[in-house]
Amino acid sequence: SGPQLSIGFDYGTSGARAVVIDSATKTVQHVADVKWTAEEGYDSPQAWLSAAAALLDDVPAAAKARMARICVSGTSASCLLVERSDPLAVTRGPAMYNYNTLRESPAAAAAAAAALERVAPPLHTTLSGTSALMKLLTWHAEAPLGAHEALAHQADYVSAYMRGGAGAEIVTDWNNALKTGFDVEQLRWPDWLRGLHGGAAAAAVPRVVRPGAVTGAVGAAFARRHGLPPRCEVAAGTTDSIAAFLAADGSSGGGGGAGHAVTSLGSTLALKLLSATRVEDASRGVYSHRLGDGMWLVGGASNTGCAVFRQLGFSDAELAELSADMSESTGEELGEVYYPLAGQQGERFPFNDPDMKAILEPVPASRGEYLAGLLQSLARVEAEGYALLHELGALPALAAVATAGGGANNGAWSAMRARRLGVPVTAARNGDAAYGVALLGLAQPLPVAQQ
Ligand code: ADP
Repeated sequence: SGPQLSIGFDYGTSGARAVVIDSATKTVQHVADVKWTAEEGYDSPQAWLSAAAALLDDVPAAAKARMARICVSGTSASCLLVERSDPLAVTRGPAMYNYNTLRESPAAAAAAAAALERVAPPLHTTLSGTSALMKLLTWHAEAPLGAHEALAHQADYVSAYMRGGAGAEIVTDWNNALKTGFDVEQLRWPDWLRGLHGGAAAAAVPRVVRPGAVTGAVGAAFARRHGLPPRCEVAAGTTDSIAAFLAADGSSGGGGGAGHAVTSLGSTLALKLLSATRVEDASRGVYSHRLGDGMWLVGGASNTGCAVFRQLGFSDAELAELSADMSESTGEELGEVYYPLAGQQGERFPFNDPDMKAILEPVPASRGEYLAGLLQSLARVEAEGYALLHELGALPALAAVATAGGGANNGAWSAMRARRLGVPVTAARNGDAAYGVALLGLAQPLPVAQQ
């Protein structure tokens, strides 16, 4: 006996992870992970199911006996076609998040894009070679969708397996459905999708529920095989990047309040802000995911980021050492001059300029001074990014920033950023998407346990 538990499974690019949390304290009880191998790749549905079993095998039996919820996140826009009557039987795909239909199947994708452009609103999020809807329409252009075929996103596929496999309904969530064309304002599939190909595309897409909504109990055989209580429930999941946000925000005292943000300081700079309003700006790649009622997760991603440090030969050890004696104002002047892009990709956010070039000069004599200027310039781009989101309509004003990624634990940098942003900046305590999706599994109150 003991408190009921929730387990989150995150399917990512390099492997899958599971995190078990206590439903009362939200503390981590167990962590397991598996890496994709060359044979069992990230794009193998069979590997996803084997991974789920292996991760559960790693959880102590006593914990499994107290499991009340299971929730799964997957990579955004990774999807496949399956038999409607048996969601584990794959008919086509998967086409993973980075599968670009326009490159991989150009003739069919061109036909799909033409059909989609005729009906979808201008600049719609599905108008991209990698969107899940483009994958579905490209399959249709290759060979017409059969009435027996149904679309599942990666997370839906694994969830259907856990709810019993053959015979289980495929259910998805607002977040996974966004790039499949789901209207997150009206909470329904749009009429223009129904009109496409005589309704064939609309017939293939799954039922959509709120992320975290309970979709059913675990399958009986699955429960027996893993020693889960039959009353353990599966909750609708989300995408891996939203799960990572929920982890960082939830573990850092944000707890889902509007105005709270998570900045990811990894190779690139990504901003995610909770807003009471929906904000979209296709030209700058800004769009909003729907979270709860009246709550939107607004995101923007800059091509600047920490990649520039490695490009300029700063090792992680040197970064930590040089940063140690900086104050919040060190390097401020150079911070106004640099634009720290790595590579040649131009910029999209906070302003759209595909021809933008990095500005990494002048190079001061001191390495420390150089680094301080670069850190300040990234802090400047971050602050401009949040200012832009606010300008585009995000509400209320920025209240606090938790930080994820390799730059999160640089205290001097956090002080520079806090000064520019004018709000507290902390390092996220837990940025693990599997932790975030375990939290999401508890979104709906647990039934009272009969112990
Ligand atoms: P990725 O986006 O590749 O997953 P990570 O979140 O792992 O990136 O972060 C790696 C980046 O963090 C590297 O580019 C590295 O330069 C940067 N980094 C590591 N330590 C520090 C530090 N103390 N200060 C600033 N940046 C750092």
